[in-house]
Amino acid sequence: MTGVPAAKQLSENARDFICDAELHALLDRPVDPVQVREIIAKSLAKEPLEVAETAVLLNATDPELVEAQFEAARQLKRDVYGNRIVLFAPLYVGNYCTNDCDYCGFRRSNPAAIRRTLQRDELAAQVAALERQGQKRLILVFGEHPQYSPEFVAQAIRTVYEVREGAGEIRRVNINAAPQDHAGFRTIRAAGIGTYQIFQETYHHATYAAVHPAGTAKSDYLWRLDALDRAWESGCDDVGIGALFGLYDWRFEVLGLVTHARHLMEKFHCGPHTISFPRLRPASGVRLREKWLVSNEDFKRLVSILRLSVPYTGMILTAREPAALRNDILAFGVSQIDAGSRIELGGYTEAGDAQQQVWEREQFELGDVRSLDEVIRQLLVEGYLPSFCTACYRLGRTGEQFMEFAIPGFIQQLCTPNALTTLKEYLVDFASPATRLAGEQLLAQQLAALPDGESKRELIARLQRIESTGERDLYY
Ligand code: SAM
Ligand code: SF4
Repeated sequence: MTGVPAAKQLSENARDFICDAELHALLDRPVDPVQVREIIAKSLAKEPLEVAETAVLLNATDPELVEAQFEAARQLKRDVYGNRIVLFAPLYVGNYCTNDCDYCGFRRSNPAAIRRTLQRDELAAQVAALERQGQKRLILVFGEHPQYSPEFVAQAIRTVYEVREGAGEIRRVNINAAPQDHAGFRTIRAAGIGTYQIFQETYHHATYAAVHPAGTAKSDYLWRLDALDRAWESGCDDVGIGALFGLYDWRFEVLGLVTHARHLMEKFHCGPHTISFPRLRPASGVRLREKWLVSNEDFKRLVSILRLSVPYTGMILTAREPAALRNDILAFGVSQIDAGSRIELGGYTEAGDAQQQVWEREQFELGDVRSLDEVIRQLLVEGYLPSFCTACYRLGRTGEQFMEFAIPGFIQQLCTPNALTTLKEYLVDFASPATRLAGEQLLAQQLAALPDGESKRELIARLQRIESTGERDLYY
């Protein structure tokens, strides 16, 4: 357990709930194939797994058992999320940082990093460019620095919501920024935040200490681990967890993530909204540790096992991964991806149309630099339903009562129609001719598959209003 200066107010009953020895012991157990299949069956019944059950899946390396896990993850993804994939874009607001994370191009000891904070008009220009692409959901990303106070973050959120460019509109703003205290979370909450996302990076204490030098704010393991508890207590009941894969044994990190998800579920009766599982990428001045880098095959396993462990938690696959791999991994349980992403400060206007990767301006190197339109077209061609839905957050459907499994028919009655109407808006307002064609074909197929009745008639009417009367934002 890490020491916490008295001035830092943790959440009620805060504790370090990660016990390295226990997690390691779980990873040392022998494999019983019968038990592996029982646990897979439990996942398919949409029951969240115990941490020890996740460990059983991680320990099962026999090719047949691994294939059974892949197949189950595919099926669970289809059963819980259908073919929807929610789209968003990251927007880097400032890269000043007082931390010195070993793996990050923005760390304070990197003299090559070009530092910048977007001023209000610069931020507005980035948002306008994103709206012209057709983006509806953003995540604002910040370094950790006194400049990025809660009020500054809140003002950035308000600025984003104010910008309206043609038919464009950002309808949901998520945040990835340093852990706040209760007052800070309340300030940010009041500005209309969607998800507050903070990654623990590594749940392994010794590795955490090794990559976050002592004396920096981020070196306090418990302050970070407890951050989403404080967020929750401050009214942010929509939170995202994550680990940076490549710092330590990926299997340990999966157990850390599942332990964290279960902790939130036990304490607040609602798990995290999303789990992120970024893999370490090359970055300016960063030395990658070969030992823990995760192979593509293991990456597929970790995505599948997370899917099976937390059936109702959204899973985010970012553009750190190359396009071909992203397409391959989607089926194993991913529910959200970013698209058309630029991670240079000012990159949505200043880099022009072609993605120019300028190492010193970025936090790390991107793997997938396709445009939003290209990503959407590929999703459509492969039978996925791209969604820009933001309805739950705007109707206050968050937290315990509104978890997707809590409402019978939630996906069929709300998520799918909202995905179809937001896709229709994109096709009418922003799509290239080829994407429009692919999109209209998918819309027709999806409609044909819906049962006849009043709901379907209402949905068809809404799609026609979007096409012919210019009405927008017709969400359920
Ligand atoms: N400064 C805040 C923090 O550290 O939580 C938020 C922003 S940070 C820019 C967002 C995330 O990027 C980090 O939590 C880390 O997981 C990830 N990241 C940092 N360096 C990376 C790298 N070289 N490759 C991939 N992801 C990286
Ligand atoms: Fe700063 Fe975040 Fe990068 Fe660490 S990961 S150096 S806190 S921006």
